[in-house]
Amino acid sequence: MKYISTRKGIETLSSAQAIKKGIADNGGLFVPDHIPLLTDSLFDRLVDMDYAERAAEILSLFLTDYDKNALKEDCRRAYGEGAFTGGAAPTVKLGEGKYLLELFHGPTCAFKDMALQIMPRLLSRALKMTKEKKTAYILVATSGDTGKAALEGYRDVEGVKIKVFYPVNGVSAIQKLQMSTQEGRNVSVQAINGNFDDAQNGVKRIFSDKELNARLRAAGYTLTSANSINWGRLAPQIVYYISSYIDLYTAGEIKRGEKIAFCVPTGNFGNIFAGYLAYRMGLPVSRFICASNKNNILTDFINTGVYDRNREFYQTMSPSMDILISSNLERLLYFVSGREKTAEYMNRLAETGRYEISKEELAEIQSIFEGGFTDEEGTAAEIKATYKETCAVIDPHTAVAYRQAEQYAYRTGGKVVTVSTASPYKFAADVLKSLGKKADNKRGVLSPLYELSEYTGTPIPAPLASLEGKSVRFTGAVNAADMPDTLFD
Ligand SMILES: *Cc1c(COP(=O)(O)O)cnc(C)c1O
Repeated sequence: MKYISTRKGIETLSSAQAIKKGIADNGGLFVPDHIPLLTDSLFDRLVDMDYAERAAEILSLFLTDYDKNALKEDCRRAYGEGAFTGGAAPTVKLGEGKYLLELFHGPTCAFKDMALQIMPRLLSRALKMTKEKKTAYILVATSGDTGKAALEGYRDVEGVKIKVFYPVNGVSAIQKLQMSTQEGRNVSVQAINGNFDDAQNGVKRIFSDKELNARLRAAGYTLTSANSINWGRLAPQIVYYISSYIDLYTAGEIKRGEKIAFCVPTGNFGNIFAGYLAYRMGLPVSRFICASNKNNILTDFINTGVYDRNREFYQTMSPSMDILISSNLERLLYFVSGREKTAEYMNRLAETGRYEISKEELAEIQSIFEGGFTDEEGTAAEIKATYKETCAVIDPHTAVAYRQAEQYAYRTGGKVVTVSTASPYKFAADVLKSLGKKADNKRGVLSPLYELSEYTGTPIPAPLASLEGKSVRFTGAVNAADMPDTLFD
């Protein structure tokens, strides 16, 4: 299988090359040149496998240049009990025809782990397969979840070094503690005086600084990024849609071939797009519900065909969905509009912040997608109502989607799986408040976690509980202008 750019151009790469490279020369994203099929015999084989085996089987259809036994080994390590206690992606039933696909049982308690536990292994192999002699130096600017998940995923991976920059006052206290106590020989974390944009712009400047790159190369390094447009982060996410369907089938919840809906809390459109690829492979899906918070640019797009980022930006209690440019939407445009028009739309977006697709293209998107958004009051109300009705404690991102899923189920009577992207303990203070409980904050940074656990009778996930005794390795903050110097620390 070959990989091509979503925009025009003749670049054609193997999957290892696409994963190493990240983004196409013409600014487009890499997509597979065809989509493999989920055949009946493949489905039969997947039924008898555990998650890691399913992942290797499905990934091998897309990463045809990788050795299949190597993929099996990587998946076993990535998704085994060591990283995901209690299973990598369990589907739990909340009510008749209503399910949660839980993707937060990894080492950082957010769904980013599903990709970032395997992607570093894929990159490490890609470096060997392409005979890269230099050490890959990964730079990440983060507003929270991605940074920690990348640190955990890349720690002690051969041939790789990682440095994460975060805004010193722009992440939660727990996220800060998660990053500053990070273990591993090849990791580094640096706080920046400034906001997320300062960190992100600083990283962009480093990537485009020719002299600095030459110095790094001379020192034996080549810069790479780990952001969500890399194919190596997208491909692993296809797996859990198929795995969840099979789990529902083997549990007797659905008949084979029965169509079900997936409702996905969406930011960069990566998660839900991976679901779309599973659907294009042949997974029986009736609908993808694209759920947004108050930043409802995707709801508007799916309803009207107009993508317009010229609007107010809101900070919400589901910060991983506070996004005005959903980069992976470009991949959907490629499938619906083709390369010429995708390039045109993306140019228009860069120049004016707006583009509009044709009626036919919109109709094709609406044939499988619908959009809906939940505001802050709705999110809090959903957390409380879900707890009262089912005893399930859900995080704000999941609540945004679950509210849309319930409305869909009520309207259509269809079965729907809501993708649950974070542990409620990652957002314990907001969850407590939504449940109507005022936090006393008497026990330091982790106080809301203890309080949520006592109030709901649910356990604090081990990776968060263990933060208590960890020593802080990375302290201090530098100005954004000094970021390049820290690369040589
Ligand atoms: C990243 C993230 C999302 C959004 O996923 P996309 O792939 O960017 O659409 C949703 N919820 C949580 C908790 C996340 O960390």
